Amino acid sequence: MKVINSSKEFDLISFDSPVAFVPTMGNLHEGHLTLVRYAKKNYSDVITSIFINPLQFGKNEDFSSYPKTLTHDIKLLENLDCDYLFLPEDNFAENLISIKPKFADVLCGISRPIHFQGVLTIIDKFIKVIKPDVCLFGLKDYQQQLIIKDYVNTKKIRTKIISLPTVREKSGLAMSSRNNYLSPSERKHCGKIFACIENLSKDLRESKTLSTVESLKTKGLIHLKKNDFEIDYLEILDADDLSFVTKKTMNFLIAVAVKYRKVRLIDNIVVSL
Ligand code: AMP
Repeated sequence: MKVINSSKEFDLISFDSPVAFVPTMGNLHEGHLTLVRYAKKNYSDVITSIFINPLQFGKNEDFSSYPKTLTHDIKLLENLDCDYLFLPEDNFAENLISIKPKFADVLCGISRPIHFQGVLTIIDKFIKVIKPDVCLFGLKDYQQQLIIKDYVNTKKIRTKIISLPTVREKSGLAMSSRNNYLSPSERKHCGKIFACIENLSKDLRESKTLSTVESLKTKGLIHLKKNDFEIDYLEILDADDLSFVTKKTMNFLIAVAVKYRKVRLIDNIVVSL
């Protein structure tokens, strides 16, 4: 695996196309590795980046303490035969014009007001520097991939955005670098987050009616609070544009964000009726 340490190097390398790009913040786990594995299987050259993007963290968030495990990450990527690792220069996120995203005023955008603007601004820079044929994201961050897909479509950028399913721990907890802040028994307990939205998705499928949406939300909230989760949100929205569900809604997004022992955890399920 070749390590690329500066954006300028991209002008000097002739990649084998199609080129797939997997942006990450490191501390790699099976969620990230699934994206790299998929990329290796389907594209000629795979570039993974590790960059903790300062633009997407709020003032009281965990930017400075975000877990850094570069040596281990490199081993994991080498095991997958990833072709290139891009470690951007320190000033990579400096002097960029912020890009205002669509779909950012709901769900995580409420408690993390600058987050998606920071994500979109850095992804736009990555795409301009790397010019990949495809860019891979995880559905665990549903709102993120929707925002990026919308941006790429609106701006007619030729990079295709591909989203892959959420990879979970045995308990059902969605894999996340932040799970490392929890003990094994706490992680097991947090499997109840997925169990809760899975239950709601079954109810929604069976009822097939809009009128149940509010009562399902109430049921989920009670269940999560009873299990010591501090709720940021539990929402059922139209998965296509994050608007309120209507009679026309075909795809429902059940999305949740909670804190457990101060650790923020998110998850979601899409239900297509
Ligand atoms: P991050 O390092 O948290 O920025 O994540 C990098 C990429 O990995 C993003 O596209 C995430 O959506 C994706 N990702 C993170 N966790 C998971 C997971 N459990 N399953 C699938 N994709 C994931």
